[in-house]
Amino acid sequence: MRLRCLIAPVVVLLAVPAAHAADIQQTREGVTLTYQDPSASTVADVRDRIIATFFSTYPRERADFHPGAPARVRIVMDPAYDGVAYVGEKEKSATITINPRWLQKHPNDTDLVTHEAMHIVQGYPGYASEQAPSWLVEGIADYARDVYGVDNASGGWALPTQVKPEHNVDTGYRVTGAFLKWSEAAHPGLVKALDGALRQGRYTPSLWKQHTGTELPALWDAYVAAQAAAARKA
Ligand SMILES: [Zn+2]
Repeated sequence: MRLRCLIAPVVVLLAVPAAHAADIQQTREGVTLTYQDPSASTVADVRDRIIATFFSTYPRERADFHPGAPARVRIVMDPAYDGVAYVGEKEKSATITINPRWLQKHPNDTDLVTHEAMHIVQGYPGYASEQAPSWLVEGIADYARDVYGVDNASGGWALPTQVKPEHNVDTGYRVTGAFLKWSEAAHPGLVKALDGALRQGRYTPSLWKQHTGTELPALWDAYVAAQAAAARKA
């Protein structure tokens, strides 16, 4: 009897090779994740690391920035999606859609989930608008990937330490993320204040001066000078 019990799970696994095609639902720290991969596109190892990364990052991002962010989240593997990953608006505002072909090519880029999970936490009322400029929204998401990420190094991902001539504060993503990290170190609470204003639809560029004492363009110039000085020392 005991032996049969031991064997049974193995038989089930063998009989259903595409077991991961079914939805997986897990709840931790008050957050329920539904993972869906209808075309069984992603190997179990990557799937497990995606789920583990989600639970290592989203609950912390949520607790730190927006405890009212959705408690039910979906991750959907969609081979029909051409980009890397995204969080949509309205009914897709708590859904992370991932292109499985990207993960096949970059199986260690699992912290893309950390960036996307931050978009769910953000839940701003707009995108690419004056009240929610896309460079800042994406910069905060990459700032969060740096702060909360589980294994950015394996993914070959890092914030830039040098500012290139073509970089500006509104370049977005890692470039803005690195600027936010530097600004937050000098003015703790800045990112949270920006995030809160963005969520309430009351973001204006004047917030930078309010929270740092410096207008945004001058703050960026100070950042560029500081990075150049650090590079000379290195
Ligand atoms: Zn993004």
